[in-house]
Formats: sequence, C-alpha cells, structure tokens
Amino acid sequence: MSSVNTTIQLMTREEALAAGKAGREQSSCSTELSKGPWEFDLAEALAGTPGYGPGASSEDKAPQETPQQGQLPQEYKDASDAELKARILGAKAELGERVVVLGHFYQRDEVVEFADFVGDSFQLANAAKNRSEAEAIVFCGVHFMAETADMLSGSHQSVILPNLAAGCSMADMADLPSVEACWAQLEKLYGTEPDAEGRVPVIPVTYMNSSAALKAFCGEHGGIVCTSSNASTVLEWAFARGQRVLFFPDQHLGRNTAKAMGVALANMPLWNPRMPLGGNSEQVMTDAKVVLWQGFCSVHKRFTVAQIAQARIDFPGVRVVVHPECPMEVVDAADEAGSTDYILKAIQGAPDGSTFAIGTEINMVNRLAAQYPQHTIFCLDPVICPCSTMYRIHPGYLAWVLEGLLRGEVLNQITVPEATAVNARIALERMLAAKPSQAQPAAPLS
Ligand code: SF4
Repeated sequence: MSSVNTTIQLMTREEALAAGKAGREQSSCSTELSKGPWEFDLAEALAGTPGYGPGASSEDKAPQETPQQGQLPQEYKDASDAELKARILGAKAELGERVVVLGHFYQRDEVVEFADFVGDSFQLANAAKNRSEAEAIVFCGVHFMAETADMLSGSHQSVILPNLAAGCSMADMADLPSVEACWAQLEKLYGTEPDAEGRVPVIPVTYMNSSAALKAFCGEHGGIVCTSSNASTVLEWAFARGQRVLFFPDQHLGRNTAKAMGVALANMPLWNPRMPLGGNSEQVMTDAKVVLWQGFCSVHKRFTVAQIAQARIDFPGVRVVVHPECPMEVVDAADEAGSTDYILKAIQGAPDGSTFAIGTEINMVNRLAAQYPQHTIFCLDPVICPCSTMYRIHPGYLAWVLEGLLRGEVLNQITVPEATAVNARIALERMLAAKPSQAQPAAPLS
C-alpha cells in the first residue's frame, strides 16, 4: 500500500519547488507534508496560534479554542519507522484485550496497519461500543470522532486521541455560541408555535462531523444527528416534525441531500454566522425549507467539474463516484454520490476491470486502489492533498499513548461532560431510530 506520507517523502522539496517554478502542476499541495507533525505542534506553540497543519485545510483559520498538542517526547520523534513499528506492536501485544485501536478510512497507512477496526466515524464509534472489555480505546481519527466514541462507550473505558491537534476544520466552522445566536434569530422570526399539522417552525440537524456540544444542542431542541449514509432518512424524519430544517455544519451535504429530495435551491439559503439573519432577507428566511450553515470540508471542496470532465476524456466509460461533502455541481456531474461506505461497496460490487474516479480523501483512494487491483481506481484530484488534521496522527504519537498505557498512564483522554453527553445521546438515538420511507431516491446519498 502506498500512503500519503510515504509518497510525499519520496518527493524532495527541490523537485516540488522546481515543478512550481516551471509552471508544472505540483504533485502535492504542500511540501510541508514531508515533515513530522510535531514540527507543526512546535511552530504553533511558539506562535501561540493553533493551525491545522499541512494539507487541504491548512488555509482555513483554526479557532483559538482548537486543542493544541504538547510536545511529543524526543525519543518518539527520533525513532525510525521500524523502531516505532516494533514498539507499537510490542505495546499492543502486552496490552492485549485491554486496548482497541480504531483507524478512520482517511488515516495514513502507517497508522491504519495497527488498527483493529477500520471504518467511518460512526462504524468506529460502534466498534468502540462493542468492545466493552477494552479499557482504552485509541481513536486514530479526529476530535469529534473521539468525542462520539466517548459518549457511546462504557464509563469504565477511556477514549484516547493520540494527537490532540487532530481536529476537523469543518466541525470547527460551527460552534455552540454561533448556533445559539442563529437559533435565537430564527425563534424571533418564526416563533415557537407548531402549525396545524403539529410541526414546529424549525428542527436542528447536525452532521456527525460536529462537536458534542452541537449534538447536545440538537438533542435539547427536538433535533437529530445525521451521517453521510443516512442524511436523506434524517431529513425525512425532520420534515415530519418541522416546517424547516437548520442544517449544520456542512452546507454541501445539506444541499445535495435536500436537492435530491426535491427541495428547490431558492428555499435553501446559506447562513453566514457573522451577519444578521445569516446575510439573508426576512422574506428569504420565511420561504426557507433548509437553512444551510456556511461550513464545508476543505478536502472535498477541492473536487471540480473540470476534473470529472478530464477523467471522462482520459478514461472513457469511467465510473465517477464522489462523496456528498463535494460541491453540488460536482455531485451533479458525477455518476454517483455516497458516503465512504457507499464508495467501498460500489467498488466491491463492480465487475473486474472496472475503472473508478473517486472524489474523496487520498489515503482512502490509494488504499482502495491497492486492495482492489482488479480495478483501475484513482483520485479525481491529481494533486496529493490529504486531510491535514487526520494527517497529524503519526505512528510516533500512537507509540507514545500505547506505551503510556503500559505504565498505567492515560494520555490525551477525550472526555465529554455528562451534562452534554446526556443530550447528545438523545440526538444520536433519534438518528438510530429514524427509518427510511418507501420512497428513497434512485441514487441515494448512502
Ligand atoms: S476530511 Fe474534511 S470533514 Fe473529514 S475530518 Fe478531514 S476536514 Fe473534517
């Protein structure tokens, strides 16, 4: 398997710079991808400002309250790949059933190779729930995923995020004060009384990629959580109970899902949290069916219609499958849109010799290409640009937290306060109980 890290390290900085000077397309979006993540932790600590590190979301501004990672002990920075591998395997063997390591699809191969389970955020949270004998859950993903695992796992279990700076730039685009301010404006405009059919003026829906505080907000206000697998089912649930939906933080998942269900674009205003009424007129807000928070995933917004057109020229008959976090124009130009699990199943179910252009994170695409050599599988974006926050989980951090457990030390524990978890679980349970109606779209965003 070829991981982003290994690929990038094969490129020299000089080669990349020369390519840039000559006007050739660079093969990666940042030469800094070849550095160890601790170099960013140190730079941030010195500058006093959090950042997302190199890669797709490095240009997005990290909020000040974004967690920062303390310095990794030098021995882990100095260790060779082989030494780290031996130390991780040794610690895992000694800990046995006491620990479970979870790896997200977007995680680099050098980390995924140690994972007991690999999957999307919700599959991994459930894996954590089902391994009740493990006293420690090491989550090789990002912050909101570790929070969800903490809320769904037992009180005797600790959830560990190997690098605290592994956040999610999309999740950070909606925080509790901004959502509460938005909600207050919506209540003022719409009131709080249900209509003749008993539907309240607005139902809050949060994507799984959000903080526990926002999941709790939804639980408290009659709302629900969705994933990219069940977004249309969740919107149906919401429309059965509300006249409108406030969808956060990903505008693209909200727009793509609601559009496939027949909601007109004119009835989906974008909410800019820095402007009164989100930057919309009262009339636009009154006519709204889905109010879309102005958030996005930096990885998925890189995919373009031009990339799809190029793939169709280069590979006639190519099957273009993209993630619903991609912009609407990209989803419309693709053959299919679906979650990471949908993409995986599409490839597994295809006849040998199929060609796929995939619009999702590069580590997952590279891994699929290696696992299914009977197909031609490539990433739509020719520039290597991983999720920069996932990228911050390096084997050095994994070795550090596992060896901490051997000493009886729980490092980087993620704990959601019970008062928040109680309400967040209500929103998660509503999601689990929501059932699709008979009439699902022909190409579901599943
Ligand atoms: S791929 Fe996008 S949504 Fe997923 S963790 Fe990275 S920044 Fe967040």
